[in-house]
Amino acid sequence: MDALLFSHGCDAFLIFIDIHTFNGPYMIRILITCLFSFVVLNVSSTEKLTLKEPLTKLSSVSDGPYVFAKKQSVDAIWLCQGQVIQKTLITTELPLLINNCNLTTKVHALRIDENKVLEYQGDYTVAALSDFHGQYDLMLKLLTNNQIIDEDKNWSFGNGHFVITGDIFDRGDKVTEILWFLYDLEQQAKAAGGKIHLTLGNHEVMILNGDLRYLNAKYLTTSEKLNIPFEQLFSQNSILGNWLRSKSVLVKVNNNLFAHGGFHPNLAKENHSLEEINTVFKANLVKSELDKPREGWGKYLHKSNGPIWYRGYFKSGDEGASSQEIDLLLKHFDINHIIVGHTSQKQIETRYQGRVIAIDSSIKKGEYGEILFIESAKNKKDVMWRGSLAGEILSLH
Ligand code: ZN
Repeated sequence: MDALLFSHGCDAFLIFIDIHTFNGPYMIRILITCLFSFVVLNVSSTEKLTLKEPLTKLSSVSDGPYVFAKKQSVDAIWLCQGQVIQKTLITTELPLLINNCNLTTKVHALRIDENKVLEYQGDYTVAALSDFHGQYDLMLKLLTNNQIIDEDKNWSFGNGHFVITGDIFDRGDKVTEILWFLYDLEQQAKAAGGKIHLTLGNHEVMILNGDLRYLNAKYLTTSEKLNIPFEQLFSQNSILGNWLRSKSVLVKVNNNLFAHGGFHPNLAKENHSLEEINTVFKANLVKSELDKPREGWGKYLHKSNGPIWYRGYFKSGDEGASSQEIDLLLKHFDINHIIVGHTSQKQIETRYQGRVIAIDSSIKKGEYGEILFIESAKNKKDVMWRGSLAGEILSLH
C-alpha cells in the first residue's frame, strides 16, 4: 500500500477514502505519505519544466548552411526551425548562390589555397578590429556606421584594407552569419581593389581542434540535430573550414603588425621571421590532421606565449613585456606598431606610449565596439583614430 501511495500519491489516497471508512492512526500515516508524495511529485514536475526549456529552444533553432565540397557539387545542410534540410547542388558555375530557410550564402570556390602572403604595402586606409564572438548585429552596425559596408551590407571601403584579428567563434549565437558574411565580403573587397585580412584567433583554433568549451548552446543543438560533431562542420572539405585553414596567424600592413594575442619578445631575441612563425604555426594547426603530436617550437607557438594566446603586453612584472623588449620587437619586424586583440578593453587603447594598440573593444558583450583607422603608407608616419559604434571619430590614446 505504501509503495502504491508513493508512486501514485493523492490519487491513491482518494481511492482509499472511497473504498474504506475513516480509520484513525492508519489514515494519518497514509495522509503523511500522501503529502510527502505530493511534494516529491511537485519537485519532479518543476525539474521537468526546467528540462523542457532547452527542448523548446532546440526545436526552433535555425542555422547554416554548412556546405561541403565534392568533386563537382556541394552538399548543403541547414537546420531550419529545428528541421534538418539537406541539398546537393551542382557547381558548374561559381559563385553558387544557395538559399534555404532565409539563410543564404554564395559559394565562391570549392577550395582555396593557403594564403602565404604576410606583408602588404601601399597607400590606403587600414581599418582594424577584433573579437566579434558571434555578435553579428553589433558588427554590422559598427561596420555600417564607419562606412566599411553600406546599408545593404556591401563593401564600401574602396581600396582600404580591413583587418580582423580573429575570435569570430564562441560565446555569441550568430557565428555562422559572421563567417559567411566575411567570406563573401572578402570577394567584394578584392573586386574593389581593397582587401580583407582575417587572422586566426585562439577560438578559431579551439573550434577546429574540437575544444568546444565556449560554444554557444545553439551550436550544440545544431551539432546534435545534424548528428555531426561541431568541429566536423568545419572539416577540411567544408567550404568555411577550408577557408579558415587558408588564413594566416599574422599580417603586416605597412608599418603595422597584426596578430590576435601578440608576439612574445623571445621571437625577436631568437631572430624568428614572420614567415617562419606563420609556417610553423599553420603546420601545427589541427592536431587530428597531424602525423604526430605537436612538439618543440610548433607546440610553443600554440601555447600561452604563442601569437594567439599571448597577453604579455597587458601584464606587469616578469610576465609582461618591458619597454625595451617592445622596441626590440618593433626593430626586429621593422614596424612602428603591434596591433592585437584577445585581451578585452572597454575601447581601443594604446600601451607602451602608443607602440602597442589593443583593438579588442569588448564587442563580445553585445553592447559597444570600436574600429581602429590608420591612414597608412610605408615609411610615412601613421595617422590613427578610433571609430565609435555610432561612427564618430575619436582620438586614440
Ligand atoms: Zn582570444
